[in-house]
Amino acid sequence: MPTCENCNNKWSWKQTIKKTTTLNPEMTCPYCGEKQYQTQKSKTKAAFLTPIIYLPLFTLIFFDIPGVNLFTLFLVLIIIVIFLYPFLVEISSKEEYINFFKDKQ
Ligand SMILES: [Zn+2]
Repeated sequence: MPTCENCNNKWSWKQTIKKTTTLNPEMTCPYCGEKQYQTQKSKTKAAFLTPIIYLPLFTLIFFDIPGVNLFTLFLVLIIIVIFLYPFLVEISSKEEYINFFKDKQ
């Protein structure tokens, strides 16, 4: 779970979900009101969760699964991914950019 870099308070699961599901990259800390940003590293980690959702589609290639079961599996996996997501979120007071020109400066 993310810890605020400014006040060192740990965000709850619910708070993290609330902050990360908005399109705004700025997340205001519920404890100190300071702006926090998700780190690039944690964004990369979270991206690895997405393939889990596609897993049922791959199993469909090899096994003959009835549509209803597949739908249930799909839902369960989405819930698992949403549940795990806040554990991968890391935040920082500074906004990070992927800067390709960083070395030249
Ligand atoms: Zn804070």
